[in-house]
Amino acid sequence: MFNQSMLRLGQNRSVIREIFEYSKQRAAQIGADKVFDFSIGNPSVPPPAQVGETISRLLAEADPLLLHGYSSAQGDARVRQVLAESLQRRFGAKIGPNDLYLTSGAAAALSISLKALCLPGDQVVLLAPFFPEYQVFAEAAGAEAVIVPAERERLQIDFDALSERLSPAVKALIVNSPNNPSGVVLTRPVLERLCALLERKQEEYGHPIYLIADEPYRELIFDQEEPPYLPNLYDNTLVCYSYSKSLSLPGERIGYVAVPQTAAAHDDLYAAICGAGRALGYVCAPTLFQQVIAACVDVRPDIAAYRRNRDLLFDNLSAYGFRCVRPDGAFYLFMETPEPDAAAFCEKAKEFELLLVPSDDFGCPGFVRIAFCVSEAQILASLPAFRALAASYGLCD
Ligand code: PLP
Repeated sequence: MFNQSMLRLGQNRSVIREIFEYSKQRAAQIGADKVFDFSIGNPSVPPPAQVGETISRLLAEADPLLLHGYSSAQGDARVRQVLAESLQRRFGAKIGPNDLYLTSGAAAALSISLKALCLPGDQVVLLAPFFPEYQVFAEAAGAEAVIVPAERERLQIDFDALSERLSPAVKALIVNSPNNPSGVVLTRPVLERLCALLERKQEEYGHPIYLIADEPYRELIFDQEEPPYLPNLYDNTLVCYSYSKSLSLPGERIGYVAVPQTAAAHDDLYAAICGAGRALGYVCAPTLFQQVIAACVDVRPDIAAYRRNRDLLFDNLSAYGFRCVRPDGAFYLFMETPEPDAAAFCEKAKEFELLLVPSDDFGCPGFVRIAFCVSEAQILASLPAFRALAASYGLCD
């Protein structure tokens, strides 16, 4: 007999994977240029040139035994020093090298953080719409995921709904801004209000509530100033970061957890992070890419292509009569479906060769996610199909 919850997870492919598989089949039937796949969040902008140059230099110059060998479990000390100095310069963060734990991407950073924080019976609050793996990671850590529905107009936080769901059982809350699946960036006043609410609740319950800031899209921001650094607003913050999107390196699996020195029970918390890394087998993040991120610590992504794609899609889909929530960051657009059943709408969209992801698994029914990390040519070619889809619902002529 196997672990039944693991068996279920392995047997039920995510909706996004299902669509991705369908996309490959359909492309084989009618040609890839006729299928408009907007399902996957794989960056469409290549890694900045400095990344490739650094890899070549390291391969040519570094001692191969060190470059490909084990680092310490929490990551190479010099790499952590470089990352910590960068966080201090950028945000005035109270984060030193011994407050960082390097991981295989944000997925490992989140799993480690939840495992370190949660006891059986603890609750983890997820603000809808959310990255579906949060629920998987929280439950794998023995916690219960508590979903707070979204404020549907702009997808900022619904504070009434959040207040209703907070209780002494809440150990942590995950914030993801810019957001997958919506591209929404939480405003500074909303974040300040969230932090003030959590401060009051910690006081009332007599124990810390940790904020987990999941930030793989921090640098992918279009029109606004950079979002506030959450440890500067709220002491009990853990930052989960990844280079998957900012340096277009999702397959290289590199990121970190930061435990700011302001966090309650900091030393034990950092030790528990190291322990969770050990228990989950997430020790020694990929060594070559530890060195790459240290060398590229000040490299920023070129987001012009994502901004162009955002403008093209948002302007045209809105003109066809769809209600879209304007994404200020990441590379996703959330569009309300003209019928209540998002899955049925996605089936209809397939008739126009448009592959969209229904929003139910993101905890926010009645929308689709459109991942616009695709070529501009794909977006331009897909517009007549979106128009015809809108017309089939009577939204335009
Ligand atoms: N968090 C969010 C919001 C994401 O969108 C993703 C990946 O798409 C992850 C975490 C996991 O990222 P990584 O590839 O760094 O594990």
